[in-house]
Amino acid sequence: MSLQAANVTKFYGQQKALDDVSFQISQGEVVALLGPNGAGKSTMMKIISCYLPQSAGQVRVCGFDVAEDPRSVKKRVGYLPENNPLYNDMYVKEYLMFAAGVHQLGRKGKQRVDEMIGLTGLEAEYKKTIGTLSKGYSQRVGLAQALIHDPEVLILDEPTSGLDPNQLAEIRELIRETGKSKTVILSTHIMQEVEAVCNRVMIIHKGRIIADAPTSEVRMLNKASRIIRAEFDREVNVEQLKEISGVMDVIKEPGSVYRILTGTGGDLRADIFRFAVNNGLVLLSMEQQDQSLEEIFREMTI
Ligand code: ADP
Ligand code: MG
Repeated sequence: MSLQAANVTKFYGQQKALDDVSFQISQGEVVALLGPNGAGKSTMMKIISCYLPQSAGQVRVCGFDVAEDPRSVKKRVGYLPENNPLYNDMYVKEYLMFAAGVHQLGRKGKQRVDEMIGLTGLEAEYKKTIGTLSKGYSQRVGLAQALIHDPEVLILDEPTSGLDPNQLAEIRELIRETGKSKTVILSTHIMQEVEAVCNRVMIIHKGRIIADAPTSEVRMLNKASRIIRAEFDREVNVEQLKEISGVMDVIKEPGSVYRILTGTGGDLRADIFRFAVNNGLVLLSMEQQDQSLEEIFREMTI
């Protein structure tokens, strides 16, 4: 398993930015963290990359705990931060040599820098200072920097924001190419990006993962109206839950927790309660997402 997050919560002072987030990502997956601004995407990525400690919960990267063994984690994680902060006065190659130094690549450093310049298509630009590059080429430098130590996991925070359509297509292609050999998590607030690049999507809203599904199911998620999160006293057959009239899909979470996606009909909470009673189950908790999925998607598609 490349990544495991268990019950991760993050507070900034009083403000809760992540609320009990759990997921697992296998090696080779290319996963989108999709959500509107302020959802908690960057916060989650900083925690995975050891730039920020979580308030509670556990994160493991390739089996190493981010809090207990950050050195081992950083070796295995490449991170492209949001807005790609680079040193504008440095030359591209000089900066990449610097990045190689940070990762203590030693004599291998120079060779890796040359490889990364080739891989990210910077051959014509590497003698320039970073400040003179277009946004598209800056992103290539950011990617080259993130890949310099050949990490197993690549974390890309809004890697295509601010790019023009040509640059966008090129960077997406680079990410797809990279995704063939690495585990990739990228954040975005653009639906189309998910469909273009990722196999799986986790939708995050107000610090919670409200849906986690293969990209092929995104369209169906888009049609769903609400999500009800229900916890029973024991595991339930997902197919049985899907038989409740009005239920579009059911996503099982760890434990006996289920996210139940409902269509545009009425409130299904009473039906779920009756389902529990009829099947001899105890319903430990049930809550309905306070904003409809449709609204969330509308926020993300403009
Ligand atoms: P996203 O990347 O999805 O836009 P962020 O992870 O940046 O979301 O932010 C999640 C929430 O945490 C937001 O409400 C944001 O205002 C808040 N937040 C982020 N960084 C800080 C910080 N350094 N101090 C206080 N609040 C923060
Ligand atoms: Mg962000």
